[in-house]
Amino acid sequence: MDIITHGLSGIAVGTVAASFASKGFKNKASIILLSGFAAILPDLDAISLWSKFDGSIGKLFHLHHKGKEIYFSKLWYSHHAFLHSVTAALILTLALFFIRFFAFAKSYTFAVFSKLFKNDRLLLLSFFTAFLIHLIEDMPTPACVWGGVAFLWPAKAYWGGSGDIWWWNNYDIFLIIVLVILLNLVVLACSRWLKKRTGKIALSIFIIGFICCFIQIKTRGFDFNYTGHQVDFEAYETKSLQIQRELLGEKVYGWMRKFDRKVKVNF
Ligand SMILES: [Zn+2]
Repeated sequence: MDIITHGLSGIAVGTVAASFASKGFKNKASIILLSGFAAILPDLDAISLWSKFDGSIGKLFHLHHKGKEIYFSKLWYSHHAFLHSVTAALILTLALFFIRFFAFAKSYTFAVFSKLFKNDRLLLLSFFTAFLIHLIEDMPTPACVWGGVAFLWPAKAYWGGSGDIWWWNNYDIFLIIVLVILLNLVVLACSRWLKKRTGKIALSIFIIGFICCFIQIKTRGFDFNYTGHQVDFEAYETKSLQIQRELLGEKVYGWMRKFDRKVKVNF
């Protein structure tokens, strides 16, 4: 799936976590923003496609393969491998906590450690969940050379790769996620009046959004799957866009195409 939808999904997760937080604006904003960041982190493994990869990172680590080969391989640092796993989600969530511990703790005692952990638990849970959401969103994309994501790395099995959706232009999913974020921001703004109901309402909105996305993904009515590199890329892209046009109607589809052409990443 595209990086914009991934990032927004993380932000949507963050709005739910923030709605359960009792602290102020700064805390809520950092939960939301760090969750958005967590949801784009897995695709850091696409760095091997960077034009200067071989001359920089490849050279530094004495890598035997070229960046493009790494990307389409099943090495632990290839695309959809380690960084697309629960293991990476756990390690990076712990890394975030330790960074905060060493940056903010006034003394490095167990009491301070556990107090900070208790304070940060919503942020950490949100960061972890947002990272996982990315992995779940990649599962219905085509198998390609990987056959899904290495969800339980170092286990060798790859999960998903079902080809329910095309890699990009899943505008309907994007719009549902944007709506979830907007509604939850309204809920957050009304938290003074909603009091303890704030979290429950935000979570309900998120779950409804998630179910809607699931239904949309499962009812494309076209099998986008392929294995290896054997695919008529343009035909599949055209089909995906045609489905979006039928789903959204001319007007909304036109707006989304305009937005798509403006952004510099695959969307
Ligand atoms: Zn990904």
